[in-house]
Parts: sequence; structure tokens; C-alpha cells
Amino acid sequence: MPSLRPLKLRQVIRALEKCGFACKSQKGSHAKFVHPDGRTTIVLIRPQEIIGRGLLKEIITHAKIPVEEFFRWTWGIGMPKTSTHKKSRTSEILSLFKKIYPRAWCTLEYADPFQLLVSTILSAQCTDARVNMITPALFARFPDARAMAKADVGDLEALIRSSGFYHSKAKNILAASKIIAHKHAGKVPADMPSLLELPGVARKTANIVLFHAFGKEEGIAVDTHCMRISYRLGFTSSRDKQNQIERELMALIPRETWGNYTNWMVSHGRKYCMARKPDCKKCPLDKWCPKKGMGGNG
Ligand code: SF4
Repeated sequence: MPSLRPLKLRQVIRALEKCGFACKSQKGSHAKFVHPDGRTTIVLIRPQEIIGRGLLKEIITHAKIPVEEFFRWTWGIGMPKTSTHKKSRTSEILSLFKKIYPRAWCTLEYADPFQLLVSTILSAQCTDARVNMITPALFARFPDARAMAKADVGDLEALIRSSGFYHSKAKNILAASKIIAHKHAGKVPADMPSLLELPGVARKTANIVLFHAFGKEEGIAVDTHCMRISYRLGFTSSRDKQNQIERELMALIPRETWGNYTNWMVSHGRKYCMARKPDCKKCPLDKWCPKKGMGGNG
């Protein structure tokens, strides 16, 4: 059931009467209703029970009234989507993503977990294409964590300059490489807590590395495409709170698709659901998408 404000008994009585029920008796918070067909009797024990699944189902099944009508007379709104509706809509959308982007994968180029980690740190506020132009020279010079840990920060900055924010990125890559070299024997750790200890690594980066380098689905990497499209699809209630969005998505989406979900978002954000001018008319999800926050325009 959606969460709706509780109803007073008199509101319920009025709504049911509008829907064709006759109130036969009422005492305190007890009321007895009979539908004109004489078959259905409903007894309300407490006012809040009216929004319980049981009674709503009874009204839908026996009273033969459109449930939309009940909602209109009680809360003054159209029928809200129940969580069942949301789940089935979500599963339709996920199946479509799977079909449309069967080979979606991280577009950063890397040869091992360390290179993926560094590339992902570099990709903050920068396109993957730009990062892929930078990394061949970077990894030719510093191919692994041990080599990178010994890099001169000035040399490193010069190599990654065009990715933007190169001072802080160089500092983080250097510090992370030192921890990996000394604490993890040169290997990128394959668990969330250890990854989060590395400078420059938050949940988004950790999720990307865990899935693409180790096949682990510990969470959902929430990037700008993921935030925008998940909100438009009605999967999240926040537009920009990464942690909240990740929590809501994890509660809604089956775990076996957590890793690919972000890759689908990136592909979809580039092809149809762009930030400024989404191409809803051509989007295969058009019929399923509520286009939340878009004022009904698409
Ligand atoms: S229908 Fe429009 S808003 Fe919805 S996912 Fe497609 S492009 Fe984005």
C-alpha cells in the first residue's frame, strides 16, 4: 500500500457511500456497510484499517467499483501506484535495458584492477574518452601500484593534467598507490571497507571496481547518468543524494543486476536520456517511464 494520510471514519463513510455502499449502522469507530447488490458487508473496526490491503482488496473484488473512485473520494487523488505496480514496472524496464544494451560495460580502458581504479579516480568530472587518451602514457610509465607509489607528484600531475582537478587526483592516486603497495602487497583490495580506506575512493568508485574487476555486486555505482535517469524513471525520490539514491535502488533492483544497472544508465544517458534534451519519442522505455520531474514533457 502506498503511504497515505490516515482517514477519519466519517471520510471513509462518505467515500464508500459515494462508491455505492450504504452505511447500515455506526457505533463509535465501528460501521457496517452493505453494497446495493446485497452481497457485500464490510465492518470497519478502526478507521486506520480502511487503508489496509485487506479492505481495499475486498472493495475491489466484491463491490465492483473502480478503486480509482475510492481513492478520488477519500484522498482526492487518482489511484497511486502500489509497490506491486512499481516492482512489475521496474522489472519490465530492467528487461528492456538488458535487451537494448546486452553488451554494456565500463567504457574505461584498463588491463587490471589497479588500472581500473586509477582510471575511475581520473574519470571524476571528466569523460571516459578523455581518460582513455591519458592512461596509455600514464600506465606505460607507472604500470602498477608499486611503481605508481614511487612516482614524483609533479610528473604524475603533468601526465593527468587534462583530466581536470589534477592536483587532488594526483595526490589521491599517489596516496592510494602507497597504501595498496604497502598494506595490500601491491594488489587492489577486493572488499568494500578496504577500498573505502583508499584516498579518492568513495562508494561509486568502489562499486565500479568491485563489479568490473572482481565480479562482486556490493552496491550500485551512482554517477550523474544514474542519478538523472533513475529519478526520471521514478526509481528514486532524490535527484542528487548519492547515498540515498543507492539505498533506494538497492531496495528496488534485484542484486544480480546491480553491476550492470550503472552501465545501462551510462549507455541510455548517452543514447536517449540526455540531461538537456531527452529523446523520449524514440526511447524504448517511453511507455513505461513516468518522466518524473520533467513536467510531463518528453
Ligand atoms: S522516456 Fe524520456 S525520460 Fe524516460 S528514460 Fe526515456 S528518454 Fe529518459
